[in-house]
Amino acid sequence: MNFWKTKTLPEMTTSEWESLCDGCAKCCLHKLEDEDTGDIYFTSIACRLIDLTTCRCTRYAERTQIIPDCLDLRQLKTEQYHWLPTTCAYRLLHEGKDLPEWHPLVLKSTRGVEESGISIRSYARKESKDDDLDLEDFILEWLE
Ligand code: SF4
Ligand code: SF4
Repeated sequence: MNFWKTKTLPEMTTSEWESLCDGCAKCCLHKLEDEDTGDIYFTSIACRLIDLTTCRCTRYAERTQIIPDCLDLRQLKTEQYHWLPTTCAYRLLHEGKDLPEWHPLVLKSTRGVEESGISIRSYARKESKDDDLDLEDFILEWLE
C-alpha cells in the first residue's frame, strides 16, 4: 500500500514528505488574499529565489530565513492550507483526497507535471530585487 494512503501527513518520514512535492512551484508564485472573502489569487510573479529552469528553490535549506513569507509546509496550520494550490499533494491529502494520476509518485515519472500544465515554467516571471510591481496586474484568474 502506498504510504500516502496509510499515513497522515505528520506521520510521514522526511523523504516520504519531500517525495510528495511534484515540483510545480505554484507555491512560489506571489499571492494576494481578498481580506473580505479570504479568497486567494495567484499571480504570475515568482519568488526571486526560484530557478525557473528546474522550478526548484535555489536556497532551499535557508529559504525561510531569506524570504520570511516563504511557507514552511511542515509548520503549516490547518487554516493555512488554502494558500496552497488545489493541485498540491499536501493540500489534497490534507483534504482527504488522493493524488492525481499525473503525480510523479503515481505515474512514476515527472513528465505528467509538464504535460498536464501543472508546472509554472511556461508562464511565470521571476521577481527581481528592483521590481516595483503592482501584483494585482499579474493575477492569474484561471489558477487555483
Ligand atoms: S505547490 Fe505543492 S506540489 Fe507544487 S511545488 Fe509547492 S509544495 Fe510542491
Ligand atoms: S524561498 Fe524558495 S521555496 Fe520559498 S517561495 Fe521562494 S523560491 Fe519558493
